[in-house]
Amino acid sequence: MKLTGWGRYPQIETDLRAPRQESDLIDVARSGPLIARGNGRAYGDCAVNATKTIHMKHFNRMLSFDVGSGILVVEAGVLLADVIKVCLPKGWFPPVTPGTKFVTIGGMIAADVHGKNHHKHGSFGEFIDWIDLLCRDGEVRRCSLNANRDLFNWTIGGMGLTGIVLRAAFRLQPVETGWIRQRSHVAKNIDHAIDLFEDNLGSTYSVAWIDCMARGARLGQSIITLGEHAGREEIDAKALSMPRFPQRRRGRYIGIEFPNFTLNNLSVRCFNALYYWKGKSAAADRLVSWDSYFYPLDSILGWNRIYGRRGFSQYQCVIPLAQSRAGLHALLDCISRSGCASFLAVLKRFGKQRGKFSFPFEGYTLALDFPVTARSLDLMNKLDDITAHHGGRLNLAKDSRMSAEVLATMDDRVGKYRHYRKHQGLNQIFSSEQSIRLKL
Ligand SMILES: Cc1cc2nc3c(=O)[nH]c(=O)nc-3n(C[C@H](O)[C@H](O)[C@H](O)COP(=O)(O)OP(=O)(O)OC[C@H]3O[C@@H](n4cnc5c(N)ncnc54)[C@H](O)[C@@H]3O)c2cc1C
Repeated sequence: MKLTGWGRYPQIETDLRAPRQESDLIDVARSGPLIARGNGRAYGDCAVNATKTIHMKHFNRMLSFDVGSGILVVEAGVLLADVIKVCLPKGWFPPVTPGTKFVTIGGMIAADVHGKNHHKHGSFGEFIDWIDLLCRDGEVRRCSLNANRDLFNWTIGGMGLTGIVLRAAFRLQPVETGWIRQRSHVAKNIDHAIDLFEDNLGSTYSVAWIDCMARGARLGQSIITLGEHAGREEIDAKALSMPRFPQRRRGRYIGIEFPNFTLNNLSVRCFNALYYWKGKSAAADRLVSWDSYFYPLDSILGWNRIYGRRGFSQYQCVIPLAQSRAGLHALLDCISRSGCASFLAVLKRFGKQRGKFSFPFEGYTLALDFPVTARSLDLMNKLDDITAHHGGRLNLAKDSRMSAEVLATMDDRVGKYRHYRKHQGLNQIFSSEQSIRLKL
């Protein structure tokens, strides 16, 4: 069957297997090349191998939860949405979450996902106690900081190229309610936005939406949203008919594929103007539910269809702190001049990062969606040059187009990962279309 990532580009013909039992999985994984697949929310080709792709959807059981310590043990195919459904009413929330709840725990480990709290809490890998990994020799090994440490460290952020995660134990964070106290700030340009981030490093969550079509003195004008978990007394004091732990919203499904011209410069300009105006008028504190705050895009199921048949690509880079102002100026200037509209442009502040092959490091990360066209592919090549020039690198969970040469220029860890994979014989079994393209 044909398979894609969330960006629906590229499309790859593959033999998709979905074993139900661990013994079947071990049988299927005896010979490669193959790659594990979670819920297909990575944008590009990292969760597909043209020869064999192993869907983990049947490994979806929660195995144990300690309500005292917040330690959850799950199979790798469990969705984050289900973790929240079970654990939030008991007063526990994921310590780190990406911008969609429709990801599996295996996918979160392999991409070592980050959230809006990276500057304070780091990435998901920080909260993993152990992983049970199906290795190339068919053995299942428990990996942690105390046992099989190297394998543990390369697996977190290793994009599924060290083995198949079967189970994992991780720590959740205690919360008193399912509400977030949100405050928005208007930044008149990118320098102002960076100042606001730096002034608010104490906030648990922070993220900026950027109008990437603004130019000149308004280059990088944005709305910055800060968030804190609301305490029990805040909900009680409001005396509203607010349940302490609100349920997830019901999403609407886009059943049709939009024509390619739907997202053009005019529609993006209108959306940006509306969003900016709305953000300006909502500066005061307000309480929003966890689902609206963390997962605004999840309310429209299948939103990736609005880009039409050609699909889209997300460009996400991180620029080191010292180079962030210069790098972001150059990137935004290049984008606003290109005439390629990005409907979604998000800026976040990363803090310090552990991990052998994880994407983040301390600095600023910019993420933009572009419909795949000859023009946008050309633009993204130019953005690669700017990112590399400022010492930045790209997020492999979003990538669908970078070349091996560009990766090697941006990321000096590539040689070590390649060597580790070769030395352990991992490259003979575990590979994705992305790892083949990037010569990992
Ligand atoms: C709307 C949206 C918002 C997002 N926001 C963020 C964000 O804020 N921060 C962030 O970090 N990411 C973000 N992402 C990316 C997403 O979190 C990651 O791509 C995540 O890996 C997807 O999980 P998945 O289960 O869908 O995995 P897939 O997309 O199926 O696979 C992703 C990678 O994980 C590997 N993998 C999956 N399961 C296993 C397993 N059991 N064993 C070994 N390897 C495995 C695959 O081989 C592949 O390399 C976002 C994605 C979307 C669509």
